[in-house]
Amino acid sequence: MDLNGTLEATWLHELSPGSRDLLGRAGEVAEECAKRADEHDRAATFPGRDFDDLATAGLNAATVPREHGGLGLGPLNGDTLALWLMTKELARADLSLGRCWEGHTNALVLIHALATEQQQQRWFDGIVRRGEKWVAWSGEPQARKPGESTRFGTSITTVEDGWVLDGTKAFATSATGADWAILLVNTAGPGGARHADAPADGLLLLACDLSDPTVTIDDSWWDPIGMRATASHLVEFDRTFLPAQNLIGAPGAYLHQGWQSAFTPHYAASFLGAAEGAFAYAREYLIRQDKTADPYIQQRVGSMAVNVETAHLWLAHVARLWDDGQRTGAQRAGNRARHLVEHLALQTVDHCIRACGARSLVRPSPVERILRDLTFYARHDNDDHVLATIGRAALGQTHDSSFFKP
Ligand SMILES: Cc1cc2nc3c(=O)[nH]c(=O)nc-3n(C[C@H](O)[C@H](O)[C@H](O)COP(=O)(O)OP(=O)(O)OC[C@H]3O[C@@H](n4cnc5c(N)ncnc54)[C@H](O)[C@@H]3O)c2cc1C
Repeated sequence: MDLNGTLEATWLHELSPGSRDLLGRAGEVAEECAKRADEHDRAATFPGRDFDDLATAGLNAATVPREHGGLGLGPLNGDTLALWLMTKELARADLSLGRCWEGHTNALVLIHALATEQQQQRWFDGIVRRGEKWVAWSGEPQARKPGESTRFGTSITTVEDGWVLDGTKAFATSATGADWAILLVNTAGPGGARHADAPADGLLLLACDLSDPTVTIDDSWWDPIGMRATASHLVEFDRTFLPAQNLIGAPGAYLHQGWQSAFTPHYAASFLGAAEGAFAYAREYLIRQDKTADPYIQQRVGSMAVNVETAHLWLAHVARLWDDGQRTGAQRAGNRARHLVEHLALQTVDHCIRACGARSLVRPSPVERILRDLTFYARHDNDDHVLATIGRAALGQTHDSSFFKP
């Protein structure tokens, strides 16, 4: 990335020439996606054409290993930063797209990490040859909000040759666009992974073919302030049969092996994309309005530049730990990066708005959408709990580095 020529992007030197080329291609696709972001946001529709363009550019199998025909990016392939910078490019164009893309690439990381060779052959082939889209769904919040009549959650029954699933999941990103979902379900009852207190061994990862007629989408639930184009609808399972051969990894492996921590810094990469989008907009806006002689404006621009650079340096640091196989250090640093980048990104958007003024929040300004999207997306994890978890780790106390539970 080029910080508008203001400083050298040192982290780019850590990428191979091949990865830099991929990033360039992602940047070209992202430019087209940015033009469609407003339309997807207003209609709350999944950015299907963006995914088509990514597939046409040969980028959709980013985290599929090379031996299976993919690009071999990500924390399991020793090329983590290239993936996160690609995500950042897409999130800069449209944070909702960034989230859908994360969901897709993270699901493929899970298949790589935990699935059998036969399963990998089958599912990676669909991605590489047919551009199939994946996502991972846990979302079963248990505490009802005032006035909420729907009860979220699934229950699973063991049957011959597999399982039968009943119930609902909320926040099901890419619900109207994905072909397959990895369902995180708990044999102990509703709650999925994030919202369950049940023992880790009860957590199953089950691949679900979303063309199954027993899987339906209730699109009346998803009417949020931001991240509208993620199409994170309520999904209903009505005695959905999930065959034994769709079980990914051993029960509990997801939590025992701490896979969520490979995705936590990935969220930070998306937050950074939003910040970079606001920074680029502010810079152009302020130069156009000839306001750059004002010392307050200069300070806000300076702060945005430092924030964006700091976030990059943290992501490059965490990526290096993953690539060097320093798993524990990578998990710890990844949580710190997630915490810090949320604040850097929110502050950058705030600087942009304060420096540019009210018209930066009038459509079709992208800042209006970035503010709504980032405010909402930062709720994906609770930063109070992320920071407390970092503190508990620093104190040598027991802590949950997957979902930051107290
Ligand atoms: C844009 C977006 C996309 C998403 N996509 C996906 C997806 O694809 N797949 C998926 O699995 N999930 C997804 N999620 C869901 C997300 O993972 C959470 O499950 C979701 O944020 C839960 O909604 P909530 O914040 O209202 O939940 P709640 O569980 O009600 O949490 C509300 C707040 O209360 C806090 N809290 C919880 N328990 C306690 C307690 N005992 N004491 C004090 N505070 C507590 C939480 O930390 C949180 O801050 C997505 C979320 C967003 C915002």
